[in-house]
Amino acid sequence: MKLLLKKLVDQSREWSEYGNVASYIPELAKINPDDLGISLYDIKKNEIYCAGDSGIKFTIQSISKIITLMLALNENGEDEVFSKVGKEPTGDPFNSIIKLETYSKKKPFNPMINAGAIAITSLIKGKDNSEKFAKILNFFKKISGNNKLVVDNKVFKSEKETGDRNRSIAFFLKSLGVISGDVNDVLDLYFKQCSIMVSSKDIARVGAVLSNGGVAPWNGEEIISRHISKIINSFMVTCGLYDGSGRFAIQVGIPAKSGVGGGILCSVPGKYGIGVYGPALNRRGNSIAGIEVLKKLSQELDLSIF
Ligand code: GLN
Repeated sequence: MKLLLKKLVDQSREWSEYGNVASYIPELAKINPDDLGISLYDIKKNEIYCAGDSGIKFTIQSISKIITLMLALNENGEDEVFSKVGKEPTGDPFNSIIKLETYSKKKPFNPMINAGAIAITSLIKGKDNSEKFAKILNFFKKISGNNKLVVDNKVFKSEKETGDRNRSIAFFLKSLGVISGDVNDVLDLYFKQCSIMVSSKDIARVGAVLSNGGVAPWNGEEIISRHISKIINSFMVTCGLYDGSGRFAIQVGIPAKSGVGGGILCSVPGKYGIGVYGPALNRRGNSIAGIEVLKKLSQELDLSIF
């Protein structure tokens, strides 16, 4: 397996040339675009295989949206969560605002786009932001099997200073009554969850839990219910790569969630959790070489669920 992963990373690395690192968050513009790494957690063997730049730390960004969604579903239940956010793909970019005004239900289409994710973050309970963030981080530590996760403060500050697009989405959500309370507090929490640092190994382990019905394969602990893990896998298939989700379903065919930090988390039901890191992004904000390596891996191991 390790040799196969290394071969596929070597073959896909050149694809980084065709993408760009996310520069709308200035701190992310400093990242080396050529890095590419992969980790694959085999849930039957309880073994992790890695190749390339698999140990490099990067910010989780939008992959955190599945973490807060799991937590919100655990805490608030499905009815409350889906009264605020829908279940349908948009076909729009991740930071689009247009449907918030035109959709008759006056709520974000799904929890994977920024509007939906900001609404989900506002549902996390706690007496203040530090208690809420501690809850998010602790849950993340548990589901990734890594109790050393920390925030990249430079990226957090950088996004906080420049995140006017998300600010406008959040104020719009407040005007619709989707979020309540202090909008800037909600945004701070959202920017912070996006700035948690991980490696491809950490997200491979989260993928492994999702591929194993919510149970951590390394210790048998049920972290989320099977039902919630099905909800997350379904959103990853339909909306995980935004307006690139349909193409990814055809090319790779597994539940996945991307982030503009360059990560892609995948769960191959009953088999593997996979984490990929490649910060050069395509125009939809998804790792360009990361998709390439997953495409090849899916063909080699016949991973498509379709
Ligand atoms: N923090 C980023 C943002 O909200 C996350 C976007 C992403 O990873 N697609 O713009």
